[in-house]
Amino acid sequence: MSEKTIFGKIIDKEIPANIVYEDDRCLVFHDINPQAPVHVLVIPKKEIPTLNDLEEADDELVGYLVRIASRLAREKFDLEDGYRLVINCGPHAGQTVFHIHIHLLGGRPMGWPPWPG
Ligand code: 5GP
Repeated sequence: MSEKTIFGKIIDKEIPANIVYEDDRCLVFHDINPQAPVHVLVIPKKEIPTLNDLEEADDELVGYLVRIASRLAREKFDLEDGYRLVINCGPHAGQTVFHIHIHLLGGRPMGWPPWPG
């Protein structure tokens, strides 16, 4: 059994988080280092380290997480001007926590492309 990630500990309530939504399949909480006025993380309770570890059986779960993110963006955070969902995978994308998560960012224009220069 691999060691529990920080998000695994948040799921198990071993460390605190500012939780905005929870059900039997997912947890949503505020990012500790927000990059926008709204920055929450949508995570599955199932341990999946990265996008590369997704299996066909996870297709429905991933769709569910995206739909929860979209619903919260509109119904909880009133992001009627838009928002961005981000999933980082691996070192070039800057993934730091190896429990798959969707960043929901909003409340300011995001800019495109998403890199400096
Ligand atoms: P990644 O870089 O892996 O895509 O995103 C990980 C995110 O988790 C970062 O935005 C980081 O600020 C956030 N994070 C890391 N540790 C904690 C923590 O203990 N609590 C919360 N709420 N967020 C965390």
